[in-house]
Amino acid sequence: MAFSERVARLKSSLIREILAAAQRPEVMSFAGGLPAEPMLPRVEWREMPASMGQYGMSEGEPALREVIAAEARALGVPCEASQVLIVSGSQQTLDLASKLFIDPGTEVLLEAPTYLAALQAFQLFGAECIGVPQQADGPELSALRQRLERHKPAFAYLIPTFQNPSGTRYSEAKRDAVAALLDEFGVTLIEDEPYRELVFDEAPATPIVSRLKQASWIYTGTVSKTLLPGLRVGYLIATPDLFPYLLRLKQSADLHTNRIGQWQALQWLGSEQYRGHLAELRDFYRLRRDAMQAALLEHFADLAEWQLPQGGLFFWLTLRQPLDTRTLLAPALERHVAFMPGEPFFIEPDRHPGHLRLNFSHVAPERLGEGLKRLAEVIRQAQAGKAG
Ligand code: PMP
Repeated sequence: MAFSERVARLKSSLIREILAAAQRPEVMSFAGGLPAEPMLPRVEWREMPASMGQYGMSEGEPALREVIAAEARALGVPCEASQVLIVSGSQQTLDLASKLFIDPGTEVLLEAPTYLAALQAFQLFGAECIGVPQQADGPELSALRQRLERHKPAFAYLIPTFQNPSGTRYSEAKRDAVAALLDEFGVTLIEDEPYRELVFDEAPATPIVSRLKQASWIYTGTVSKTLLPGLRVGYLIATPDLFPYLLRLKQSADLHTNRIGQWQALQWLGSEQYRGHLAELRDFYRLRRDAMQAALLEHFADLAEWQLPQGGLFFWLTLRQPLDTRTLLAPALERHVAFMPGEPFFIEPDRHPGHLRLNFSHVAPERLGEGLKRLAEVIRQAQAGKAG
């Protein structure tokens, strides 16, 4: 069959395969990044006007664009509703940005590690990905400067607030420094923020796009982690030089975003009810994070190192004795435990063995300990086998 050349670059997604296995009820899954089922709000549809079933505007529902722009301005992002494009989940931002910027061989700058599905989207279009190592408070600045001096990336893709997978929240100093470097080298920033509202320990974290003086930018968010991922409603906000192209690319992809999902999102965003829901979510997830921390201290203290995540949905473990964690998947699943191996989050997976991403929102606290105990046993056995 004569497919396009990019089809040869399509990879099967390890995470989708794991999630499929993790669907079985007996499996304790630390693999996905899903909201906890009990925290999905009950939504009402009765008031929805029938006209929402009609075709809509490619830009999105005007009232929703207004609310999103107002919320972004409150965060410090200078923007108007005319710069807001509603998209089918923030995943679509990554697809549209790829189509706008990437030809085979185009350089793109990423955190190492970075969000797996972003890496896959950029690589599908043939991007040459360049990684910048992450520290506890954000990217290693000397490495970032060195990459910018040596390369000409079309854009930098960053997740500065509770990064997927590392959980890192950039410090204020690093946010300023990253903005200054991107301005100096004239590199467009794509700032992806699905986890901003899932904060357990507050600290200043104004978006990096609001600190840019010259560089173009796209800021993207979603209701997936705070409301319902099934609505498939996300948004991007772009500088006026990029917006018209993104809009046309959106039209060629799917004409417009699900209006029914947009209507529901509009019932929540910016409302008192939503603020209350976010407060409940934070309390619920903070308890789960703390339960996971206690269970990890019990079962993993001698096996791995990690930072306590101050928001988001993940712990990122670094094994003291690295091994390819992909080899742990089958034995873990045999014991009904699923987790996400760390290797696929890197541009060169084989060169970064020994990390695990563990989601803490899904498994109930009373089952956590048992799941982590089994996972620790699987790791110990693999390490003993390797040593012997
Ligand atoms: N970006 C990041 C960093 C994510 O973790 C996710 C979801 N896992 C997305 C984007 C996509 O979210 P959605 O398409 O559901 O809005």
